[in-house]
Amino acid sequence: MKITKLLSESAAGCAFVPTMGALHAGHQSLIAKARELSDEVVVSVFVNPLQFEDKSDLAKYPKTPEQDALLAQAAGATTLWTPDYETIYPTETKKLSAGELGSKFEGVHRLGHFDGVLTVVNRLFEMVKPRYAIFGEKDFQQLFLISKMAAELHPEIQIIAAPTVREPNGLAMSSRNVRLNAEARNAAEVISKVLFNAAKAESISQARLELAKVKNEIQFELDYAEIIDEDNFELATEETTKPRAVIAGWIDGVRLIDNMALQPALVRI
Ligand code: AMP
Repeated sequence: MKITKLLSESAAGCAFVPTMGALHAGHQSLIAKARELSDEVVVSVFVNPLQFEDKSDLAKYPKTPEQDALLAQAAGATTLWTPDYETIYPTETKKLSAGELGSKFEGVHRLGHFDGVLTVVNRLFEMVKPRYAIFGEKDFQQLFLISKMAAELHPEIQIIAAPTVREPNGLAMSSRNVRLNAEARNAAEVISKVLFNAAKAESISQARLELAKVKNEIQFELDYAEIIDEDNFELATEETTKPRAVIAGWIDGVRLIDNMALQPALVRI
């Protein structure tokens, strides 16, 4: 595997996995999927300041460059691209707007976050020119907005969604999990627990009740927990064919997000 700050033209046509580093098995699953699609797999590691409205969160973002190289190579990456800020933003970059959906759910709690995400992903796509780009369902609103942006600005790139990889206790893997101590990690189990129970519910209203049980965990400070329509992020009704539970909140100063599709059995009711 090649590790480089500057990408050569030969990356064009590859399968691409953009990340912010601190790689874990979730990222590795995306890289493995990319390798199934192409013999050339570019993994980028770039912590994008534009998507952090909270600069202390940016400063605290974990950095594990040696481990990233080992995990990326083990999963099948052929190039690990670690660009500098100036490489991505050589001049005043025109910021993309995530529109109305950019200020819902995650956007309410992270102002301007999705504008920053779309701006960097657009720049990365312009530079890498991949055939495929793989994103995790873990960040479902991000996946939705990137798919929409790519359809408009980069129709030649196929966006591939990869399922969420979880810890044995159900907690969705995240680079931020390293900041949880043992007690917080235990408390965080409540997130996936309510999601799994909501997913098994027999109606949207029952799914909402299951999800609301997250409020019983006093260590969890809820930002939002809702059942939405996957196709437009509107609140789901009993008629919604693709309902999904989305949840976010804080445990011990660490912000965690997760989501889960509700089961097809519910959809047929
Ligand atoms: P990040 O480095 O957190 O920006 O994430 C880079 C990519 O990895 C994004 O497409 C995420 O959705 C994806 N990702 C992060 N955590 C997971 C996970 N637990 N399972 C699957 N994909 C993930």
